[in-house]
Amino acid sequence: MNCPVCGGKATGKVGVDQYYCWDCCVEYKKIKDDVSIYEVDEDGSLIAYGTSEQI
Ligand SMILES: [Zn+2]
Repeated sequence: MNCPVCGGKATGKVGVDQYYCWDCCVEYKKIKDDVSIYEVDEDGSLIAYGTSEQI
């Protein structure tokens, strides 16, 4: 599926209903019609997309 952030196709499946966009460096999960987007922190943990105030 296309990335919900940039709409690009540079995505890869990393788990069940879980994908990674190589352009945005975000992970997203698609459960039915609900898409949750996460940023990957330096230590590998996931942060809900748009909530990080780090620049
Ligand atoms: Zn993207």
